[in-house]
Amino acid sequence: MKYIGAHVSAAGGVENAPVNASAIGAKAFALFTKNQRQWIAPPLSEASIAKFKENCAIHGFEPWQILPHDSYLINLGHPGNDELAKSRAAFLDEMQRCEQLGLDRLNFHPGSHLKLISPEESLKIIAESINITLDKTKGVTAVIENTAGQGTNLGHNFEQLSFIIDRVEDKSRVGVCLDTCHTFTAGYDLITPEGYEETFKQFHNTVGFQYLRGIHLNDSMKPLGSHVDRHDSIGKGFLGTDVFKRLMNDARFDNIPLILETPDEDLWAMEIEILYGMILQ
Ligand SMILES: [Zn+2]
Ligand SMILES: [Zn+2]
Repeated sequence: MKYIGAHVSAAGGVENAPVNASAIGAKAFALFTKNQRQWIAPPLSEASIAKFKENCAIHGFEPWQILPHDSYLINLGHPGNDELAKSRAAFLDEMQRCEQLGLDRLNFHPGSHLKLISPEESLKIIAESINITLDKTKGVTAVIENTAGQGTNLGHNFEQLSFIIDRVEDKSRVGVCLDTCHTFTAGYDLITPEGYEETFKQFHNTVGFQYLRGIHLNDSMKPLGSHVDRHDSIGKGFLGTDVFKRLMNDARFDNIPLILETPDEDLWAMEIEILYGMILQ
């Protein structure tokens, strides 16, 4: 089964996210559990946590259909002691929020080396950050998202994802989220049938589908290998619709959250319907 949804608003409280997801016909959703542009947020209230769980139950969302995303400010590969400590503290807070909400995974961007240290050194710091956080939490998997490789962002090829995973002690609580836009602009051809097969063959051989915990379904405003992260609505960018038709009919993407992060939220309900319509009976 395919579980398609979108990164919905949690304005007014996390408890509104499952309601917003249900309203657009989603069977999965993503959310921020705090303001993603601020370091510090007030803790989740007991009432908000209870209402979130209640709304998830009412609208039929199990934890594995939900892919929370952490703050964009966090850099778990930061070479500076103070900045790294700040990022690790914020990441721990995000993981603990997921624990409180009964969620089982947290999606995050691995980090950036900022040209202050080598990519390899930064990747090692990221793995250490994950280990430290997993030690202090229970039941939540750290889900590394692949990036477009913009600037000094790490995690833009499967080897880097695998490098991190290799150094994570608890392999049962580390996973990966692939973003179709990031994969493509990082240099993996998803447009041609051969490119699609080759990309996911490489992913399986380097990382492994057993680590896949979610997909971000985004078209791309920028071309193959551009290393630019600009999402477009489904079918409107360089990816076009064929890759999404293949994804919708590929059993390797069953039973994980498939999340739209496309720019026009007014289109989400229609995009979800179009994507479900691509599934061949
Ligand atoms: Zn994404
Ligand atoms: Zn992106």
